[in-house]
Amino acid sequence: MVLNDLGKKINDALSNLNKDYHFDKQLLNKVLKDIQLALLQSDINVKYVKQLSDNILQKCNNIEEAVNKKKLIQQLVVQELTKMLDPKKQPFSLKSGKPNVVMFVGLQGAGKTTTCAKYANYWKKKGWRTCLICADTFRAGAFDQLQQIATKIRIPFYGNRTETDPVAIAIEGVKTFQKQNFEVIIIDTSGRHMQESELFDEMKQIYSAVCPNECIFVMDGSNGQACLNQAQAFKKAVDVGSVIITKLDGHSKGGGALSAVAATESPIIFLGTGEHFDDLETFKAESFVKRLLG
Ligand code: GDP
Repeated sequence: MVLNDLGKKINDALSNLNKDYHFDKQLLNKVLKDIQLALLQSDINVKYVKQLSDNILQKCNNIEEAVNKKKLIQQLVVQELTKMLDPKKQPFSLKSGKPNVVMFVGLQGAGKTTTCAKYANYWKKKGWRTCLICADTFRAGAFDQLQQIATKIRIPFYGNRTETDPVAIAIEGVKTFQKQNFEVIIIDTSGRHMQESELFDEMKQIYSAVCPNECIFVMDGSNGQACLNQAQAFKKAVDVGSVIITKLDGHSKGGGALSAVAATESPIIFLGTGEHFDDLETFKAESFVKRLLG
């Protein structure tokens, strides 16, 4: 994982504080510039980088008096990054004994189907009555992929090979599982590319038809700066309640995901850290930032 590259770069920026004997505003500005560069190189969006460094500068008012200036700035970076990840809104919590309909959305290849399975497996292991619906009629093989996974993790599955309308499948699937008193009813929708307005329309139709209790946006953490636009487009189309970031075991620098979450003001609930069904970590902002900083 290259997440903690940022930590190394920030440490390099702060090392100027050790070398230079005389501390003044000019040196502070240089250090902050280097920090800005490190954040940008970690794919944090320029708008947030500016905000973050302005906030740090403001809090550095009395820095001349601080004994350990390096530590102070380090702490401020952690504080500000953690603040960025706090959407000030609690994620949806499942209601026991009720049919909680959870719809997954995301770009093709983001890891949505895999994450649906991980999410299903996570709640099943905690004793919830969990099931999966395949409402992806767009990608050939989507039905088989989810059915095979569902069989592997022993979770009831609904899909329809012959029906071409994903809205009809989603409605029928939810109805079927509601009747059987399932508590976590997960709908996998077709992945889309950013330019495919038809698929965005389809997603909105499914959303309006089933009125999910929760809509989870699955985002590939290694998409860097592109994450921000993606998250904004999905948020505009449907009411994204929370986010799962995948592929943080790969070459992600983390910053893109971080900016995207700040933009959608939705909490991250899990991180995908591998291809296996158990590779799902519950998200904790502070430990994510600490990992990001190494
Ligand atoms: P979808 O098109 O969004 O439904 O994507 P899939 O669920 O089919 O996943 C696309 C690829 O990403 C597959 O090869 C998955 O095994 C892989 N994948 C999904 N999540 C993760 C993850 O957290 N880490 C890694 N390394 N691979 C993942």
